[in-house]
Amino acid sequence: MKNRVKFIYGAIAFVLLFAIIGAVPFVVSKSRKAKKKIDIVSEIVPFVTEEATHCETESETENVEVLPKKRIALTFDDGPHKKYTKEILDILKEYDIKATFFVVGRNAKAYPDIIKRMYEEGHEIGNHTYSHPKVREESINDILNEIVETENLIEELTGHKTDLFRPPNGICTESVKTVAKERNYHIVLWTIDTLDWTCKSSKDISKCVLKEVKDGSVILMHDFIAKNSPTPEALRTIIPKLLEEGYTFVTVSEIINKKVGTR
Ligand SMILES: [Zn+2]
Repeated sequence: MKNRVKFIYGAIAFVLLFAIIGAVPFVVSKSRKAKKKIDIVSEIVPFVTEEATHCETESETENVEVLPKKRIALTFDDGPHKKYTKEILDILKEYDIKATFFVVGRNAKAYPDIIKRMYEEGHEIGNHTYSHPKVREESINDILNEIVETENLIEELTGHKTDLFRPPNGICTESVKTVAKERNYHIVLWTIDTLDWTCKSSKDISKCVLKEVKDGSVILMHDFIAKNSPTPEALRTIIPKLLEEGYTFVTVSEIINKKVGTR
């Protein structure tokens, strides 16, 4: 009996021993598998990071594409004019684009409602002196009065003080520069002169603009022309064509940020 018990204990011990020996490779392989799993995760992490970076790069590219690449500013001088300025404002409204008007103070005083409309419809208003004098013949004090009088009028009508100044005929004398600096104005000239005031045909004006236009162009036109103005008709060709070519029409201030067309 004693021997039988001994045999049973011996058999149990033997089975347990084999069970333990048999379990060793399984445990090792499981721990290896666990290690392998960690390795895969560490391999995945850089991949995920890389993919995220790639995504970021892609979205950055998308953002760049969203920004307008070709920006131009239409500018109109000498107004407001009772007929042509309204026609131009109607066209700009039709195409939902913004422009900049360099107004002459005495005309602004004659047509205050047109100035208010310009401002309300989101256009930019710049100072173009009060009486459009020949600046070379003016004293520094005369130039100062010309600028301040128009500045006050624009502020009175719109509640907004402009910091854009275009001297008559684009003439930048030392006096003009000194006064503009003193009054904190940016002097804005242009990169394309349409010469619309010479009453060339609307077809020639469109041709001139479409040939010379590029990113950052500041286009000089006039909303006040004493004779028959070809400008509104030219705009009906220029605007849709440039929109089709991917241009965005912006105000002069937006172009100035790129340091184009200013002095
Ligand atoms: Zn002018």
